[in-house]
Amino acid sequence: MKIYISADMEGVVGVVTGDQLSPQGFEYQRFREFMTQEVNAAIEAAFAAGATEIVVSDSHGNGENLLLEKLPKNITLVRSWPRPLMMMQGIDESFAGVIFIGYHASTTDSEGVRAHTMSSANLADLKLNGKSMSEGSFNAAIAGQFNVPVIMVSGDDAAVKEVSSQLGDIEGAVVKSSYGFHSARTLMPEAANDLIREKVKRAVGRIKDFKPYKVTTPVQLEVRFKNYRPAELLSYLAVVERIDAHSIGFKSKDMIEVSKFLEFILNYEPGLTP
Ligand SMILES: [Zn+2]
Repeated sequence: MKIYISADMEGVVGVVTGDQLSPQGFEYQRFREFMTQEVNAAIEAAFAAGATEIVVSDSHGNGENLLLEKLPKNITLVRSWPRPLMMMQGIDESFAGVIFIGYHASTTDSEGVRAHTMSSANLADLKLNGKSMSEGSFNAAIAGQFNVPVIMVSGDDAAVKEVSSQLGDIEGAVVKSSYGFHSARTLMPEAANDLIREKVKRAVGRIKDFKPYKVTTPVQLEVRFKNYRPAELLSYLAVVERIDAHSIGFKSKDMIEVSKFLEFILNYEPGLTP
């Protein structure tokens, strides 16, 4: 039984601001430890519940947050960017279930610590077939293309509520309660790890209950930028439709094309080196 774990950081215990989220932040090195501990808790519980193989994707910021020497030797880890399937790189039909660790609410959710979708700096909305997505539901749609269901999510209360409302009855570990974009009341790391272990154990134990999240194809992707010029320039491309001043549309045959298109527009710049 293969399990895929996609790990973000905004929904990790204690995270409330950028001080914990990037190498420039004064608390980042300590919070990499907490993120790694939460992933480890999920790994331990999944193996204990019958998983035989686990792939983890480090899916926050630079994609180089998780501490390799603190992870068990019987997993493999996806690191850094760009990658065609973004936060789900490495997923395929051979997996039995997906676990989201450290997830956060979407850019269209008025609650949740560091709520955003894919790019807090650049995107104001991300829709599939007219429906606003969170990173959780977008990534679930990628997994769904391979017939793999999401079985569990951890994060703040807003993230767990939003992702559960989009995906149905999945297991959720609420490791903090958000008061707003930059504040929360949080569990302590060991309690969060215990809760994640418990929910992963329960999810893997009833893995047959979960259904893949599938979007109908062809898929209409809609991206709303915070700024004006990305929409203007992208609309020069014949495959892109200008929906309004800040939004573009892209029609694609499946979620793989959607993911590659999105990774492209979020990463391309002509000065890229090497
Ligand atoms: Zn993140």
